[in-house]
Amino acid sequence: LVSREVKEEDTVIDVGGVPLGGSALTVMAGPCSVESKEQLLAAAHAVKKTGARFLRGGAFKPRTSPYEFQGLGEEALKLLALAREETGLKVVTEVMDVETLPMVADYADVLQIGARNMQNYSLLKYLGTIRKPILLKRGPSATIKEWLMAAEYIVSRGNYQVALCERGIRTFETMTRNTLDLNAVPLLKALTHLPVIVDPSHGIGLRAHVAAMARAGVAAGADGIIVEVHPRPEKALSDGQQSLTPAEFDELMRQVRVIAGAI
Ligand code: PEP
Ligand code: MN
Repeated sequence: LVSREVKEEDTVIDVGGVPLGGSALTVMAGPCSVESKEQLLAAAHAVKKTGARFLRGGAFKPRTSPYEFQGLGEEALKLLALAREETGLKVVTEVMDVETLPMVADYADVLQIGARNMQNYSLLKYLGTIRKPILLKRGPSATIKEWLMAAEYIVSRGNYQVALCERGIRTFETMTRNTLDLNAVPLLKALTHLPVIVDPSHGIGLRAHVAAMARAGVAAGADGIIVEVHPRPEKALSDGQQSLTPAEFDELMRQVRVIAGAI
C-alpha cells in the first residue's frame, strides 16, 4: 500500500492545516526532551521565528541507560500543548507503548515512533487503528524493506498518515553516533509515496556537523528535516552534544532554503 506502484502521487499529510510533505520543505525542530517551561518556550519561539511549523520534544524518552533522564511524562505533554497555544506550532512527540498511547495522542499532533520501536508490531497495529499522523523512524539496524513493512503494518489497518524518518543506522563506524543513510532518501522517494524526513541530529550526533548533513538530506530530495535545537545545549538533559543553538539553527534554515529552492 505504501508503494508508488499503488499510488503515484506524493502523500501530503494534513496536520491541522499544516502540510507534512509536499512542495514546501517540512521543518520540525525543538529540544530532544522537554525539560521545563522556560526551556521549551524559548526553543519553540526560536524555531518558530525561523520558519519551523512543527515543534519536536520528547515527553517519554527511550534512553539507552535506565539511569538517565526518562522524560517528564504528562507534565511535558502539557508544556507542549502550552507551546502550541503560544506559537501555533504543531507538536511532534514520541509514544513508546500502547499503554500511554491514548494520553500522548490527546496532546500530540504527530506521533513519533522511535527507532527502537520500529518493529514493535503490537504498537504498530494499534497505530493503524487511530487517526493521527505518524512519524515512523527507521530502526538502527532495519533494512529499507523492513522499514517499509513496518509502515505497511500501520497503513494496512487504515491509517494512511505515515511519514518516514531516516535517523541513521548502526555501522562499524564509531566516530559518529550513527551513519546517516542518505542512500535511503532517493530510494524511498522512488519506492514509496510517503513523505521522507531526515534527522541529521541523531544521524551524525555531533553539533558541528549537523548542518552539513541537514543540507545533504535536503539536497538528496528529502521532504523535510527534524532537528534538535536547545536554548542552552550545554545544559541539556539529553542529546546536548548534537543540539543546535537557536543561532546555529537560524543559519541552517537560511542555507536549506537556498538548497530547497534550487532543486
Ligand atoms: C529522539 O528523537 O530524540 C530519539 C530518541 O530518536 P531515535 O528514536 O531516532 O533515537
Ligand atoms: Mn534525541
